[in-house]
Amino acid sequence: MSGKGAGAPRTVIVVGAGIVGLSTAWFLQKHGVGVTVVERDTVASGSSWGNAGWIAPGLAIPLNEPGVLGNGLKALFDPKAPLSVPPTTDTGLLRFLASFALHSGQASWERALRGNVPLSSACLDAFEELAEGGVAARVEPSPITALFTAHKHAARLVMELDAAREAGLPLTYTALEGEAARAEVPIASEAVRAGVRIDGQRHVNPGVYTHALADSVRERGGSVVEGFRVTGVEARGGGFRLRSAHGETESADAVVVATGAWLGRQARPWGVDVPLRPGRGYSFMVPTARPVPGPVYLPEVRVACTPHGEGLRVAGTMEFRDVDAPLRTERIRAITESAEPCLAGADLRRRTDEWVGSRPVTSDGLPLVGPTRVPGLYVAGGHGMWGLTHGPVTGRLLARTVATGVPSPVLRPFDPLR
Ligand SMILES: Cc1cc2nc3c(=O)[nH]c(=O)nc-3n(C[C@H](O)[C@H](O)[C@H](O)COP(=O)(O)OP(=O)(O)OC[C@H]3O[C@@H](n4cnc5c(N)ncnc54)[C@H](O)[C@@H]3O)c2cc1C
Repeated sequence: MSGKGAGAPRTVIVVGAGIVGLSTAWFLQKHGVGVTVVERDTVASGSSWGNAGWIAPGLAIPLNEPGVLGNGLKALFDPKAPLSVPPTTDTGLLRFLASFALHSGQASWERALRGNVPLSSACLDAFEELAEGGVAARVEPSPITALFTAHKHAARLVMELDAAREAGLPLTYTALEGEAARAEVPIASEAVRAGVRIDGQRHVNPGVYTHALADSVRERGGSVVEGFRVTGVEARGGGFRLRSAHGETESADAVVVATGAWLGRQARPWGVDVPLRPGRGYSFMVPTARPVPGPVYLPEVRVACTPHGEGLRVAGTMEFRDVDAPLRTERIRAITESAEPCLAGADLRRRTDEWVGSRPVTSDGLPLVGPTRVPGLYVAGGHGMWGLTHGPVTGRLLARTVATGVPSPVLRPFDPLR
């Protein structure tokens, strides 16, 4: 445990029991801080539940890559496209899309890539620290294999991986011809012409993992209060008092708000002006004809598949709708129809556990991690497609900043007031 400086908080409330909030709470405990995590619903009820479960530093490439905008425009006219933007007059969404467009040039993308590299480089180490500290959930090491029906698309991924490596990401991959790709992935179809195997990645069952993290926070003396939807944050007497929708209160010296896709709306009064919107994704489980040794990525249709128990979790789509909107079966169908040509040994029609969750997507490809303009009030979120991968390392860095008052240079690009 590190020592605490003058004015360091003795108690912290973390709002949101997803991977980011619970990781922050867990690492705050390492600094001797007393933590209470409050959650509006249950542990892992946000996007930390049904995501693909990849801990993939080699693929954690920001979303605002050049070209994504062209695909977005095409998507407006194609209901099956992996990106779905509804016709809208929502000024918040229009502001987000305009800002996203501004940040989708080569220079902005490279800035986001370089900003995220330190998180990717240290993310596996943070997961190891959690395991050594008693978080009892399986973390499976395995490569992730990307499959392609066209060589030119494989070449595009290789270009992105090279750019990530140049930006500093330790990363090894092997380009594969069709037959070799099918040998790696026994459920790949004859339509697969090329593949890329990215080595040294990990995967988990994200819901199980996040619950194990919550259990560990409790075992180490913290409390996790479910059904506490924060509706008011009041600074008083050098500390904070939080009020729930049912009128309960919790008080502490400092607060970390880690509410995922809900953060955008909540954090504006604290000076956080970077647009953040829910990028909704879907997943479901299907049976497979043969065991699948590791995760499979279909970049042409942006679908991620992960073996869980006897079956395969299939995840995909990016839909910019309201965070609490209901699941839309047409998006599940779009994933199924787009993935089917590449997968011969997975029965995509026998789906169970259909799920929708919201990625917290910022318009500039960088998360929001650090102090707000209210002293003692911090935010942690906005990791978009890669919040599971980057959650624990984010928690470790932010906990150190909160507990010691010394800002981390790694967090500088993620300044919530930028
Ligand atoms: C289909 C899909 C696949 C994905 N695959 C991957 C992957 O393979 N690897 C990867 O790294 N990432 C992946 N992601 C992204 C990842 O799931 C997210 O980035 C990550 O879960 C975000 O975690 P979080 O803790 O910030 O948010 P969440 O998990 O959403 O947690 C936020 C919590 O805050 C709570 N909350 C909100 N408002 C309040 C309030 N007022 N009071 C109290 N509590 C509140 C919510 O209920 C929620 O539980 C995927 C996402 C999706 C949708």
